[in-house]
Amino acid sequence: MNADPHAPDEDEQMDDADAPAAHAPPPDKCLSADVFSEAYRFLTWRLAFCKPRTTAARRLQALFRPDLRRVAFKASQYFLTPAAKVSSYARTLCLKLRYNAIYKPPNSTCPLPGCGCWDHATHLLGACRNAIIHGMICNKHNDGGQLVLTAFRNKSPIGNHAVIANLGNGAAAAHEHTLPNWLGLDNNRQAPDILIIKNWPQDKLDAGVMPRPSSRHAGKRVTLLFIEYKTCSDFKFADIEQEIWEKYTPHAGCPRPHRRHLFRELRAKGWSVEGLNAEGALGCSAAHDRMVPLLVGHAGSILQSSVEVVLQAALQLPPAAAHKLACGLNVHQVTAAARIFSTAFSLGQIGVDPVAHSAAGASAARSAPTAPSGVG
Ligand SMILES: [Zn+2]
Repeated sequence: MNADPHAPDEDEQMDDADAPAAHAPPPDKCLSADVFSEAYRFLTWRLAFCKPRTTAARRLQALFRPDLRRVAFKASQYFLTPAAKVSSYARTLCLKLRYNAIYKPPNSTCPLPGCGCWDHATHLLGACRNAIIHGMICNKHNDGGQLVLTAFRNKSPIGNHAVIANLGNGAAAAHEHTLPNWLGLDNNRQAPDILIIKNWPQDKLDAGVMPRPSSRHAGKRVTLLFIEYKTCSDFKFADIEQEIWEKYTPHAGCPRPHRRHLFRELRAKGWSVEGLNAEGALGCSAAHDRMVPLLVGHAGSILQSSVEVVLQAALQLPPAAAHKLACGLNVHQVTAAARIFSTAFSLGQIGVDPVAHSAAGASAARSAPTAPSGVG
């Protein structure tokens, strides 16, 4: 009967093959989840430092490379709450902008009256020349800047320091030129959005008492802080920062070194000016020769570095107030963007509403969807 001594072993092997889990874990379970996640993290890290082959890859790296501390602030959890009052139309538009999912025919021009520029997914949010849409873009920018100044006035320990803002007439500041004559510069230059005159009280400025470069208040030297507030594509933060630096403070390595440098001219006249250095830290030394940018993505993204360096370090907002302001800017941007898309659609010139179309498909089973009307 048992002539072959190997027969029982073969039976055992057959049993094992039919019921793998009953006897012993399969060999691949020996690789623990920790090892797998470590390997995954290592590969992601390696990929982040590979040379990018496309423009999109370069921009994603600029946004997410771990050494740059530039991770976009995720405020979507907040605007999903009822307190944020973000319509489903606005949320859908935000997601479509964030994932570049708004279809436009290639190389088309904007059909709105008075525009005719190249039309693309975010054209309506920054570049459209149609009178109505252009006015809404300006209001979106100015209202966002006023939100920043309102938080500064109400929540910053230095909120009573003087502010001059080129952001329309709003709740926090009146419209003024941010390079007033008493700074000693010539007039023919573009002015940044915000000038905060640190260590100089607002009531002194309102009374017509202007600071001089050597002025002090309560033992502290007057210091100028300029901020440029700008909205841009959620994947072009690095490019737009470069543009702002080249416009006001072209530093070594910029392609237009002949441009005048706002900070160097002010420092040559004796002013103390706050700016960023090459590492993105705030300070007043000669190395801090870059304008402070505050960027908000068209879909509402804000860089973590903006929250830490601009809101907390430069404006001196406590962490909770800085977080609340970032959430507020996120909601403002998303709501205003939805209002612009809805208006362009109601002008009857941009074809199928990019958001209403999908919202109708998603909620067809529930009730009559009238997406644009929910925007207000
Ligand atoms: Zn247009």
